[in-house]
Amino acid sequence: MEAERLGCDSVQIFVKNQRRWQSPPISDLDVAAFRRLLAQRPIPTVTHASYLINLAAADEALYRKSAEAFADELLRCDQLGVRYLVVHPGAAGEQPRAAALKRIAAALDGILREHACVSTMPLLETTAGQGTTLGRSFEELAGVLSEMEHGKRVGVCADTCHLFAAGYDFREKAQYEAMLNEADRLLGAGRIRCWHLNDSVGGCGSRRDRHEHIGQGQIGRSGFANVVRDPRWSGVPMILETEKGTDERGRKWDSVNLAVLRRLMQRGVRQ
Ligand SMILES: [Zn+2]
Repeated sequence: MEAERLGCDSVQIFVKNQRRWQSPPISDLDVAAFRRLLAQRPIPTVTHASYLINLAAADEALYRKSAEAFADELLRCDQLGVRYLVVHPGAAGEQPRAAALKRIAAALDGILREHACVSTMPLLETTAGQGTTLGRSFEELAGVLSEMEHGKRVGVCADTCHLFAAGYDFREKAQYEAMLNEADRLLGAGRIRCWHLNDSVGGCGSRRDRHEHIGQGQIGRSGFANVVRDPRWSGVPMILETEKGTDERGRKWDSVNLAVLRRLMQRGVRQ
């Protein structure tokens, strides 16, 4: 697998076509093959749910369809032994934001209640806050979790690009610490179970969700050094969602970005 070749310690996969509502079930043969692969190299696996899902939708039909699709993905993940299923909280549309957050909580609670034995953990991802998108602050994510009965079974995925675009500046060490203190206070310590590492094309507070290669965007290397050098995240999967393909010298972007992160991990940013 590509992750193996790159020497990755975690991997993010899709368990269905994320731009469609329906996908055929995963065959028993594929389940067995995937589980065999994981047994050989037990690394944390993360899945990203369909982008069509809106667990906050005001429209009843879309709300129901979203909950069904999310439950289907959760069961697929569980079948494969995937540890985390990342989902964007949703979009409020015309609803007041607080009401929309309650809808997400109700949808997740319903799914977790019905599937009590599922061991895959849903992770609500922080978002850039474009349009009426929910999840632009730890406070909003806490607004979902605090409404839930089964909130303990839900974690958070922190996306560096989204956090920065939503207004969290963590380029300085003190800012980074303040951001995490806020997360701990509002979400509870240990709630962040996964990181998405992406630099940002847009500035801090721009609310633009455009990923850039590590160190080449507005966050820059110091922000990433703060994250990857933090011992709190040892064992926590960190996923690159930067553009794939190759750079001008023909090197795979994933290898280039990983090399930058590994250097920052070892040496930090040289002054
Ligand atoms: Zn992300």
